[in-house]
Amino acid sequence: MHKLLMIPGPIEFTPEVLSSMSEPTLSHVSGDFIKIFGDSLDMMKKVWMCPDGQAFIMAGTGTLAMDMAGANLVEKDDKVLVVSTGYFGERYAELLNRYGADYRILRAEPGKSVDPAEIEDELRTGKYKMLTFTHVDTSTAVRVDPVPIGELGRKYDVLTVLDGVCSVAGEEIRQQEWGIDIVLTASQKAVGVPPGLALLVASPKAMEKFHNRKSPVQNYYADWSNWLPIMKAYEEGRPAYFGTPAVNLVSALNISLSQILDEGMEVRFLRHKKTAGAFRTALKAMGINQIPDDSVAANTLSAPYYPGDIKGPDFIKEVNRAGVVIAGGLHPELKNRYFRVGHMGKITKEDTLATIEAIETSLSVLNHKFDRGAAQRVIEDELG
Ligand code: PMP
Repeated sequence: MHKLLMIPGPIEFTPEVLSSMSEPTLSHVSGDFIKIFGDSLDMMKKVWMCPDGQAFIMAGTGTLAMDMAGANLVEKDDKVLVVSTGYFGERYAELLNRYGADYRILRAEPGKSVDPAEIEDELRTGKYKMLTFTHVDTSTAVRVDPVPIGELGRKYDVLTVLDGVCSVAGEEIRQQEWGIDIVLTASQKAVGVPPGLALLVASPKAMEKFHNRKSPVQNYYADWSNWLPIMKAYEEGRPAYFGTPAVNLVSALNISLSQILDEGMEVRFLRHKKTAGAFRTALKAMGINQIPDDSVAANTLSAPYYPGDIKGPDFIKEVNRAGVVIAGGLHPELKNRYFRVGHMGKITKEDTLATIEAIETSLSVLNHKFDRGAAQRVIEDELG
């Protein structure tokens, strides 16, 4: 029996996306596929809201998208500021270290964001080339506001890199208006395509910095010198080859991006916000608190603490028995104290209700006392 996949990626995909995956594979240099690829690049710029950007689609995961920004924009001894709100901020620092970056990490306590004034104090020193931040850190469900960071990037001429693996197509992002140089993600989350694609849009300023590099890119596969001509060729409707694209995934991406744009970005942002708000209130009605402060809580996932003396593995197993798959903790300091529920992409009110019901059932089975039914009423009220 299919269990409802409510982890923070991969997520549930639409039937149209899934059936497109089973179509016979096209030649990657055929006219039909060139159009699918070219249109997908075009639609990405609409979803990212970056009309003047350069889009990249590559076979790989979100980590490759992070790597692309690191490999192509950083040279040895370049100064990079890593704003870390959890596990994936630490990953970015580790990655940049491989390219010889001289990095500094600004860390927020779990559940909190980093104060833009603190970021400005660092950037004011004038030595930084780049800043990375995680829009939504999937280990803490903290959402960082990109607007002040984009402003600081412009003010101090620092490239800003937004890790949007757990945010793009779910959280509000206006890349060009907000002056963010790189917005990167992976296919398996709010973009709504099975795992396997690394997606990125770079601003003209980021491409200029890339073109002005003094040393060769220290990563063969991720090197934009190899991929930029390919993306340009697909945009212009010409065949080109560097590495074989993930044909079926790109066809699925084309379908999903069309569905996202048909829904409309504003409607989609609002739907994610409403679902997350209802989910948070419903958890509170069960007496369950979350890691992030409400003011910085993500709209794409929740990170609730286990209530009372509930044991994580028992609880997750019970929820699974009730037909819903959720995830355990990821942040090293808090790992055993919380769980994670994704609510992005095509999620409906019925999915949210089913998840709340499975959580309630599991808490009852594990003899936890709470006001059963209160959370379901919240969902009915807020999403009804
Ligand atoms: N950044 C964030 C914020 C993520 O949530 C993830 C995946 N959970 C990644 C990066 C890495 O993506 P992937 O697992 O696709 O490599």
